[in-house]
Amino acid sequence: MTRYFLTTECTSLDRSQLISLAIVGEDAREFYGELIDFERPLCSEFVREVVLPQLRRYSSRAMSPAQLRIDVLRWMYNVPDRSRPMLCYDFEGDWQLLEHLLGGCFPKYWKTENVWNKRDAYEHEAYFVATGESAHHALHDARANLYAFNQLRHRPKALPWVVPTLADVRLGDDVQAVIFDAFGTLCRIASPRKPFLRLFNLGARRDFWPARETVMTQPLDLREGAAALRLHPRSEVMEALESDLAAELASIELYPEVPDVLAGLRERGIKVAVASNLAKPYAAPLLALLPVGPDVFAGSFEVGYLKPDRRIFRWTCEQLGVSPENALMIGDSLRADYRGARAAGMQAIHLRRQ
Ligand SMILES: [Mg+2]
Repeated sequence: MTRYFLTTECTSLDRSQLISLAIVGEDAREFYGELIDFERPLCSEFVREVVLPQLRRYSSRAMSPAQLRIDVLRWMYNVPDRSRPMLCYDFEGDWQLLEHLLGGCFPKYWKTENVWNKRDAYEHEAYFVATGESAHHALHDARANLYAFNQLRHRPKALPWVVPTLADVRLGDDVQAVIFDAFGTLCRIASPRKPFLRLFNLGARRDFWPARETVMTQPLDLREGAAALRLHPRSEVMEALESDLAAELASIELYPEVPDVLAGLRERGIKVAVASNLAKPYAAPLLALLPVGPDVFAGSFEVGYLKPDRRIFRWTCEQLGVSPENALMIGDSLRADYRGARAAGMQAIHLRRQ
């Protein structure tokens, strides 16, 4: 069986008229078409604001309802019978709009399935984070559905993939090492003063991201960071930033479950690493708080790469002496920790603290 994911955009949920339609298959076949004429006054405010501005991205795919009907039928009949096509949708309205468009001509060898509870809503969102695409465009929504469905299907059933605290993590038998993110995962800053951010703000706004990368991928303290960024704060400003940094570092605290979780891993003989995007001054206070030192500490300022760059994950696994598929990354950032680790071939759990 080959699954094809159907998504539509329509004028509103209650007075529904089709606007666009996409079908995306596991075999990489894709269909997209949008209507030139639909009753714009029927569009809800949401559709006007979010859906309509995304139309005409594929201008050759804008057509009349009659042409859309012909095109989608032709496309469906081009899918071979032997692939046993299954049209999947996660919203009954999508199917009804297609049925209405086809006017009873749905190819008989196609089957249908409502998969709303078989795809992972969180992975659906992760697709948009990873690709930078916007939701509520039929083609991208259909691609996200295929992605979310596959993620759920290929995820080892023994592992929950999102947990509210580290105490809720259950390890699969094949996990030989656990790699933790630091801030938001093992520890938090109780009194944030953001001295580095304030330092960056002394420079141009467009330089923020390069500045962040500079201080997080080189072993620099605050003053050395300022020099590397060619920023020259007055000495009283620099001293105020340094004293704020000291106060911030003194306020780092572990989440309550962390000591027991680390001790439990140690008892089971599972290796532990910390992989963190951070500037050098944060490393020592963090490590001093951990009741048991990690086997490997992968601070971005030492390794030279920032998560989600897969090289920091690969480096950590190499240092641990485990292969990526036997390593589990746990962190609170969907993009940096979860997706980055998955892209590096590792297992991953997303920590979503309440
Ligand atoms: Mg974090």
